Amino acid sequence: MKKVRTKIKQEAKTRSILQQEVDSVCPLCSSTDVGHFQIHHIDENPSNNELANLLLVCPTCHSKITKGDISQTEVQTVKLNLPNGIKVEIAAITIDKKNCCWDTYDNIPNAFIKRNNGKPSYPILNFSLINHSSRTVLMKEVVLKVKHLFDGFAGLSGPKPELLKPIATFKIKLPDADDTDTTFFELTNEISVPPSQAFKFQIQLYRNWNNKDYPVVGRMILYFTFKFNNNASYTAPKVFLNCKSENEGLRIQVLS
Ligand SMILES: [Zn+2]
Repeated sequence: MKKVRTKIKQEAKTRSILQQEVDSVCPLCSSTDVGHFQIHHIDENPSNNELANLLLVCPTCHSKITKGDISQTEVQTVKLNLPNGIKVEIAAITIDKKNCCWDTYDNIPNAFIKRNNGKPSYPILNFSLINHSSRTVLMKEVVLKVKHLFDGFAGLSGPKPELLKPIATFKIKLPDADDTDTTFFELTNEISVPPSQAFKFQIQLYRNWNNKDYPVVGRMILYFTFKFNNNASYTAPKVFLNCKSENEGLRIQVLS
């Protein structure tokens, strides 16, 4: 069957992004004859023009890939490890103890527990990220999934250092159902992060039922993914609310 080739929109702009990404050097053989480089479709689908699927390579390497002398896996690995690719890392996930009644949970990383201390009960999570890329990245979207565990008891906790001042607080609705439901939260103002800069933002969670907002109760695991420009995304470590691990729910279920 003939493959359908869709023309790349704004090809010059795309090419310039891809050239920046490889630092004007063929990522497979180090050729610097960038004027002759070609755009390769990593998944071999010529109509998939997402930047994540494109790689700028020299004509020699391009024909090697087409002939199968360089494997698709090899190409994918190269794409993920480009010198100027987007690399973002989570430095810390903490809880804003001053402004909500949630606290750290037994020094378990990314586990938080609700206390009865009269403070507002909507959990406010701090995310500190570092841009390890050599260029500015733009954070565009937060994607959240949830898995609820059964109710149980809680323990005590110790303090955790705060890193930076948060640059924004996003109020994000907790997905209603496990697995089937996902919250996509598009940022009205993208966060622009220069190279080697750490940044911190907060996510305040709430539930919504019949158009009314409710605090977060129960035990659950949160799965956050942060989306950046050039289709880059970062999946954060799991966040545990009122629980310390994924297996805890099962254990409580057996006991009750
Ligand atoms: Zn090459």
